[in-house]
Amino acid sequence: MKFMAIDNHKVHIWRGNQSGSFQTYEVPRQELQTVLDLVTYIQRQLDNSLAYRFACRVGVCGTCAMMVNGQPRWTCRTQASLVHTTKGITLAPLENFPIVRDLVVDMDPFFDKWMKANAEFKNSSNENRTKFAIVNPKSAMRIQVDQSIECIGCGVCYAACDVVKWKPDYLGPAALNRTWSLINDERNPEQTDVLKAVSPESGCISCHTTQSCTQFCPKELNPSASIAGLKRRLFSRGIFRDKRQSA
Ligand code: SF4
Repeated sequence: MKFMAIDNHKVHIWRGNQSGSFQTYEVPRQELQTVLDLVTYIQRQLDNSLAYRFACRVGVCGTCAMMVNGQPRWTCRTQASLVHTTKGITLAPLENFPIVRDLVVDMDPFFDKWMKANAEFKNSSNENRTKFAIVNPKSAMRIQVDQSIECIGCGVCYAACDVVKWKPDYLGPAALNRTWSLINDERNPEQTDVLKAVSPESGCISCHTTQSCTQFCPKELNPSASIAGLKRRLFSRGIFRDKRQSA
């Protein structure tokens, strides 16, 4: 299919690291163009010093997320025509992450928090691990987390979260969503250590249920519900009570 350039998109992109400024580029408008297409055009045709990240381009890898007109989005699945305003399109690195350069952020603090949340699968089975575990897709545990296992680790929820902004040690929606998936994984039945990891003040109790994570998650997951599930599980296991007694 041959696309006809109609007019240009005005794209304002953050250049620099913690200090820097927005630079404006003009990109020929084409049908079905995504925001990631605009950035790729700029980097390949106009300014090859622009730093940005992408990999799959089809909503699987989670690497191309950035702020689009002040809102966190996955740019490979965001159509430019839908976010174009009279002022153009403004692109900035994801909020709540340290900036490496231009549109690239440092994901280390985000994934370090997954480790702090004990969001790591540990198979407690002694069975031969070359065999696949058979998990009944209709089991109550599996149904409870069916949606939350689809997280692609894009960081959009973390960038949208006001609590992360106010309280930088808060583990954040993605790590807690992952913990919720794991404690409902029947192959991973030991839960106490995992629950203890998300019980400090930096854990699920700090969530104010403002639901920005759920509003912006591009996979339409509900990290807010996962966090609520963790809170219920902590209370039902008496882990908050134990902490008060040992304080
Ligand atoms: Fe991205 Fe959604 Fe996973 Fe958060 S929960 S990292 S927004 S896919």
